[in-house]
Amino acid sequence: MDYNLSDNRLETKFQDAKPLYSESEAKIEANRCLFCFDAPCIKACPTEIDIPGFIRKIASGNIRGSGETIFRSNILGASTSRVCPVEELCSGACVYNRSEERRVGKECRSRWSPYH
Ligand code: SF4
Repeated sequence: MDYNLSDNRLETKFQDAKPLYSESEAKIEANRCLFCFDAPCIKACPTEIDIPGFIRKIASGNIRGSGETIFRSNILGASTSRVCPVEELCSGACVYNRSEERRVGKECRSRWSPYH
């Protein structure tokens, strides 16, 4: 199924504030995740998405499964991921913030899925 909008739709005139990851960028970022057992990123997410769960699926190439994991917790994930203040939520809670390394992901994790 083709999810692209036709050129005459108003929505096509607006760009995303941040560019989406390519599939290879998403896989590289996903492989940095430590898949924390008691993941603070989940606790910081208002919809409590299984963040390490869907990141693991991206890392293994199960893109459809990652989208299903997101939508199971948040049916509006494709929309909310574009406005979510990640620095205050999942990204801000990532354990990498306690080290010198940069945290996992530069944008809302639920935007990694190509379904978005
Ligand atoms: S806190 Fe960071 S490293 Fe841990 S599961 Fe969440 S995204 Fe991955």
